Amino acid sequence: MARSGSGAKPWLGKSIAATLAALGATLLACLLAAPAPAATGGAASPGGSPAPPTGGGAPDENAEAGDVRLTAAKTSPRKTFYYGIQRPRLRYEIASDEPANDLRVDVVGLNGEVVKSFYRNDVAPGTPDSVRWDGTVAGGKPARNGRYSFRVAPQDGDSASVSVAPRARKQSGIGLSFSIYAFAFPILGAHDYGQGGARFGAGRSGHTHQGQDVMARCGTPLIAARGGRVRFSGYQGAAGNYVVIDGRGTGFDTAYLHLLRPSPLKKGQTVRTGQPIGLVGSTGSSTACHLHFEIWTAPGWYEGGSPIDPLGYLKKWDRYS
Ligand SMILES: [Zn+2]
Repeated sequence: MARSGSGAKPWLGKSIAATLAALGATLLACLLAAPAPAATGGAASPGGSPAPPTGGGAPDENAEAGDVRLTAAKTSPRKTFYYGIQRPRLRYEIASDEPANDLRVDVVGLNGEVVKSFYRNDVAPGTPDSVRWDGTVAGGKPARNGRYSFRVAPQDGDSASVSVAPRARKQSGIGLSFSIYAFAFPILGAHDYGQGGARFGAGRSGHTHQGQDVMARCGTPLIAARGGRVRFSGYQGAAGNYVVIDGRGTGFDTAYLHLLRPSPLKKGQTVRTGQPIGLVGSTGSSTACHLHFEIWTAPGWYEGGSPIDPLGYLKKWDRYS
């Protein structure tokens, strides 16, 4: 039996309050502003706007769902990166008075906008189900940085989401929100941005400095700020051990110089955002342990692009990583 009517649902308010307690007040706007989808077997299309891209499956033409409640929902990891090692994943379980339930799992942004929908047909009560989001929105573009949450709704109903079982609420067993970022900060450890000589554009004998030096102890792990394809991995007299990555879905290349040892990455290999790429070192033309980091515009590193000042980007990534 499907829920009918669009009147006020007392359980909705309670579940919002409970979720907020767990997630913090920043989510308030998101949950309250979430538009009620016109869910009649198809994608949510509030206000006649185009349906969000589907991340998987198609709606059931004769969508049916029982009286569905969420009994568990866990999102992991809570912080994710575009093209990252781990995609944001929702594992959930329902209770229902029907053996098969046609559900839709939406990825909802902070302003209530649905950026992706997954259609899950014939979901059985008491059986774990999961969806994984690749971080893309319409046109395959990376989603904007920030917080998102998964939302489970019946395909045939008029409610924006299914209710949360009281027991799951009490146990704080519901976690639907997560964040996703386009880039990760590349140094996993203490670091500082050095003095004027560390800056992009600083004078060097015979040339100017093409990147930003970030001081960190030798041996500090480094990760790919943005995954993609390895454009170069090797040794050069001035750069020492270094690696260059062509960032997936960007025009940017990122370069990491003076690594302690040769990077484990090989040219041509695919690398994910956040994947280990080596250790901070001082190889090549270097007088102290540090990462020399470069960003090159399209079409890339020594292929017609040019290096740009990476400091603003690094500081931005540093704040949320
Ligand atoms: Zn440098």
